[in-house]
Amino acid sequence: MQALVLEQSEGKTRAEVKHISVDTLPPGEVTVDIHWSGLNYKDALAITGKGKIIRQFPMVPGIDFSGTVRHSEDPRFHAGQSVLLTGWGVGENHWGGLAEQARVKGDWLIPMPEGLDGRKAMIIGTAGLTAMLCVMALEEGGLVPQSGEVVVTGASGGVGSTAVSLLSSLGYQVVAVSGRSSTHDYLRQLGASEILPRDAFVADSRPLEKQRWAGAVDTAGDKVLAGVLAQMNYGGVVAACGLAAGFALPTTVMPFILRNVRLQGVDSVTTPLNRRLEAWKRLTKTLPDAFYQQATNEITLAEAVASAEKLLNSEITGRTLVKINQASFTPAHAD
Ligand code: NDP
Repeated sequence: MQALVLEQSEGKTRAEVKHISVDTLPPGEVTVDIHWSGLNYKDALAITGKGKIIRQFPMVPGIDFSGTVRHSEDPRFHAGQSVLLTGWGVGENHWGGLAEQARVKGDWLIPMPEGLDGRKAMIIGTAGLTAMLCVMALEEGGLVPQSGEVVVTGASGGVGSTAVSLLSSLGYQVVAVSGRSSTHDYLRQLGASEILPRDAFVADSRPLEKQRWAGAVDTAGDKVLAGVLAQMNYGGVVAACGLAAGFALPTTVMPFILRNVRLQGVDSVTTPLNRRLEAWKRLTKTLPDAFYQQATNEITLAEAVASAEKLLNSEITGRTLVKINQASFTPAHAD
């Protein structure tokens, strides 16, 4: 099978599409013919070696995929069934989705949700699932559309784009923060009512600034998140899921103890199954049809390495979908 294989020599990561034997796949109960994968921020860090994501080489990256079951020793899955996978360390410490096949634990797979196909599922992918989990966290913190404006940082990336589209579809007034003026039309099409430059958030903020936001989805961390926290309304709620700006958080306790602000962390990797199923159901129901066209770049496996560099340089908007060409064999079913 064809796979993108990461190897390391002299501390440098090498990424190359190779022909490898399916016998080398790691153990697992279910073998899947992969049709679509995605290129996420974490994949880009792994492929370029710019982040310490992979600790064991060789590794096949790809933290999400969709496809059809080829063979299953897990009674919950059968050959020909359409499935998807995000997270669980796949593509980090277990061979992942940037390949023609993967062998994984049944516990990690989700039957294709009603209303989705493999392509749409990977347009959403890990990024979209994370955006939905952020929206659910805001709702659980008491946010409703009448509460006030919601700010989304890193808005033209995968998580940010999906969060803008979801929030706008749910009736929220969404303000997007973006470092690129070239993405303003795109963000407006997704439903942002206003776009603020990232520059406004990179300076050191005071412990408390003028109150502006009822809710926030932050994909950036560092000074951007600190700035957002200082601008939250009394009782506002922030869902923090990313570190595109950095993993530090130079803030004070003031927003929490004087403005009753709530900060909720969001992890999509080990989210329990029931919550995942709920999130996928809501994604299917909430995302407008236009999202799937607006937010998608489609590439081949061979283009994944160049696209990983571009993603880290903020040269890509929305989601990057990787079409896995089943060249070596005929899959049981295609989506
Ligand atoms: P993308 O690369 O698609 O998007 C990141 C966006 O962040 C960019 O498009 C850019 O948007 C913005 N950005 C880039 N550099 C900076 C910077 N220095 N300061 C502020 N903003 C910046 O990545 P994803 O959307 O896939 O992921 C976003 C973040 O969320 C990542 O940190 C990722 O690791 C994290 N994540 C976390 C998950 C979890 O389970 N907690 C799951 C998935 C992702 P713009 O140009 O519009 O400013």
